[in-house]
Amino acid sequence: MKTYQIPMVPGPVSVSREVLEAGQVNFGSADLEKDYLELYKATEKALRKIMCTKNRVVIQTGEGMLALWGALKSCLLPGDKVLVLSTGLFGYGIGDMAEAIGCEVRTLGFGFDETLADFDLIEKVIREFQPKMITMVQNETPSGTMNPVAEIGALKLKYNVPLLYVDAVSGIGGSVVKTDEWQVDLCLGGSQKCLSAPASMSFLSVSDKAWEIIEEVGYVGYDALAPFRDAIRNAYFPYTPYWQGTAQLYRACELLLEEGLPRVIARHRKVAEYCRKRILSMGLKLFPVYDAVPSPTVTAVYVPEKMLWKKLDAGLREEGVVFGGNYGCLAGKVFRIGHMGTQANLDLVKQAMDILELRVKK
Ligand code: PLP
Repeated sequence: MKTYQIPMVPGPVSVSREVLEAGQVNFGSADLEKDYLELYKATEKALRKIMCTKNRVVIQTGEGMLALWGALKSCLLPGDKVLVLSTGLFGYGIGDMAEAIGCEVRTLGFGFDETLADFDLIEKVIREFQPKMITMVQNETPSGTMNPVAEIGALKLKYNVPLLYVDAVSGIGGSVVKTDEWQVDLCLGGSQKCLSAPASMSFLSVSDKAWEIIEEVGYVGYDALAPFRDAIRNAYFPYTPYWQGTAQLYRACELLLEEGLPRVIARHRKVAEYCRKRILSMGLKLFPVYDAVPSPTVTAVYVPEKMLWKKLDAGLREEGVVFGGNYGCLAGKVFRIGHMGTQANLDLVKQAMDILELRVKK
């Protein structure tokens, strides 16, 4: 098994010993034991704090994509209108998923290196198209950019759009996420990013309006949200919950809340600023060159000219550093430095930057 001394992949991130150990227990059956219900409730409460919401938080066995699919399938029917606001791979991907469900999708697409900014255009499209759901990504991991949710939430409210769906998988626990203040109905997260637990759990907040729509839609499936509405009250889950995974997610939330959410967010911001400064000072080019809002959890960097990503990656791995490559149109051109969760650590990023600097100067 290969492990790296300086892990800098933007998820799954390095898991602390405390979080790993929280899962090293021979728990009983989560279907039968009251203790599991208590753990689920405590985890939900902790996630509510981290996501700034009073809404119910559904916790499922799986990872981020489960939340993305489950929320779409539980809320949408073929023919429903979905407005997709996209500035990157996950933004466009969500549009493809809604299309696969048979929805009428209108995509307002911007560059992968952009941040949503043309609110007049967005408002015009909302007014004309009258979607049932608006989708967007708060933190586009492949691009290293952030999108403003508050402004879209205000438009959702102004035009009575029933649902705002926000992929915050790589932002929750490393950046400001104000689910309720931003009018988010479905705020989606995963355990393996800023929370730094293994890639085993997904979670999402569900507003009252979203629950109403979930009932109307009546979607039945492994990823369905409906059975979670009364799971605690009835002490009945749709499948055997993953106790170890929930325990690790809970411990990860506890560690975060012990440090304090504002401090955690400030740590991410500081580390990201340092990372960007070092990248520029070694003569490399950040991917969003112009005025996109840079992500505090991941930095995207152009592969230096005349260098192959494959070769650079292999050389860095030899020295114990592993960054993330990229996907789609960014594959081979842009790589990513994941400074989220446990990896939002100034010393770690400094070591990674020192090694990268030597490599690119070779
Ligand atoms: N959304 C975003 C923005 C992501 O970065 C990712 C993973 O990289 C996902 C969704 C999917 O999460 P997972 O890989 O945990 O399924």
